[in-house]
Amino acid sequence: MSAPTSGTPEWGKVLIAGGTDWDMIGRKPKPGETREILQVAIDNLTCISVPHLETFHVIREFADLKVIKAITGPNAAHSVFITDDGDAWTMGRNEKGQLGLGDNTPHVGGPVKVPTIYTNAGKKSTNVKFVTGAVGRHHTILVSDTGAVYAAGDNKMGQLGNSNHKDHTSFVHVTSLGKEKATGVACGAEYTMVISDKGQLWAFGSPEFGQLGNKTNGQYLQQSNRLVHIPQASPVLVSGLQGKTIVEVDCGTNHTIARDSDGRVYSWGFGGYGRLGHAKQEDLWSPMPIDQFTGTNALTRATKIAAGSTFSMALDGQRQLWLWGKWKTTGDGGGGTPWMYPRTLYDLNGWAFKTINGGGVTLFALPVTEPCTIAWGQGALHCELGFGEGEARSATKPDKVRPMEGLTMLDVSCGLGHTLLLCKPGQEKIQDLPKWPVLDVEEHCIECLSAEDEDNMLLCDKCDSGTHLSCTVPRLQEVPDIDWFCQSCTRAKEKNRTKQLDDDSKPATGAAAGAGTKAPAKRKAPAAKGGSKKSKANPASDEEDSE
Ligand SMILES: [Zn+2]
Ligand SMILES: [Zn+2]
Repeated sequence: MSAPTSGTPEWGKVLIAGGTDWDMIGRKPKPGETREILQVAIDNLTCISVPHLETFHVIREFADLKVIKAITGPNAAHSVFITDDGDAWTMGRNEKGQLGLGDNTPHVGGPVKVPTIYTNAGKKSTNVKFVTGAVGRHHTILVSDTGAVYAAGDNKMGQLGNSNHKDHTSFVHVTSLGKEKATGVACGAEYTMVISDKGQLWAFGSPEFGQLGNKTNGQYLQQSNRLVHIPQASPVLVSGLQGKTIVEVDCGTNHTIARDSDGRVYSWGFGGYGRLGHAKQEDLWSPMPIDQFTGTNALTRATKIAAGSTFSMALDGQRQLWLWGKWKTTGDGGGGTPWMYPRTLYDLNGWAFKTINGGGVTLFALPVTEPCTIAWGQGALHCELGFGEGEARSATKPDKVRPMEGLTMLDVSCGLGHTLLLCKPGQEKIQDLPKWPVLDVEEHCIECLSAEDEDNMLLCDKCDSGTHLSCTVPRLQEVPDIDWFCQSCTRAKEKNRTKQLDDDSKPATGAAAGAGTKAPAKRKAPAAKGGSKKSKANPASDEEDSE
């Protein structure tokens, strides 16, 4: 067994805003099909109609877990989460089996724990602890603490890297990387980039615009006189980076950016709208350093990079944000006048950020000092900016996400139509956030079944059900300061844990996920919005109940 990597990563509470109708996100009706017809088709498929989350909600399933990574991507309507004990959980669109749950059927609602992973030969693997991952349009990549890579989902373009084109509905070890140990990973729409512990960059998947960086777009003329691009199904080394130590990589739809240990930023792949930052719209088939980040002054070098679908971002040595490409639909920065090379945004003058992320149309930045979240993006129709109920879905300039003011975030990840925030735990305001998926909550105490004495009920931080303080087991004398979970949630977690220990002999079915998703129940009232969780400790709630 390998020793854990340096230090324990910080964990946080996972928040989500935006579209949760996974099969609808980013879908446009076909010619002759109205949006309503498409919606009915999807409803029939999933038997449920799911609203957009206009404000950030706490993901209920993670209430009693420590999540260290919450990951989605600009092309993805799915997500992957890693807990502090190395488990992977997945959530979202699953048409190609990208959730790695052993099927390709729709999974509505919240995250499910990945029940089983496999060796390349199809045997079950045990004791694999994941540390990070990445998601493409229909594929998911996981990296273990020993540097092993696992892949699930669509493999038409070879984006799973295991030297064939078979889709996988479960995570399978990618052995084609040989002895290379992965330390980081990123996914474009249909390709994958892996950083090795030697600081090298490996690529596989669609080469169509040169995004693999191996000096080709894989194009050749078929006998039928059609141009086709040969999928790259096994890892190739990205060329032109010899002698450089790559420490970070990120992908848009069809372009790649990477940062070396000296803070230089390289870009390659699809060059439309200036997203490569070289003042040209040409595609590049191998990495080229971006001038802005090659200066001799260390403060002008990059310390963090992020790619959105059609744009790129970086933070410099002073944590100032630089942006290039098409990051809007209209006006300056839009399709007509994209930013052809890195520029700063006037509205962010004086701001220093700890991290940045880009999605399908959204851009998020987390300030170093101030406890707030900054976001913008034009036409974020699924409410993935999370500005709040009835608020704008579109922002052409950076703005604070008002409902999140006062909260310190650790990380952010932007999807095609949803956004994930990792929120520093222990902040009181988290208890006021609504939870998702919404559940019907019993009015009575779940221990004595009496609905009397409501003011003395303690609400479970996972399922929201009430227990009289005097009915708690073990008996509590006063309202605890920390998260509290009801007997039934505590037992479910315990059961799940023991089950996992002796479960390795059972076949992999979705059921093995145990306390995984509950499909969102019939919507009643929005969950506990504005209310205080502990009515006794805080009887004067200054907000009326909202229906
Ligand atoms: Zn009771
Ligand atoms: Zn509970």
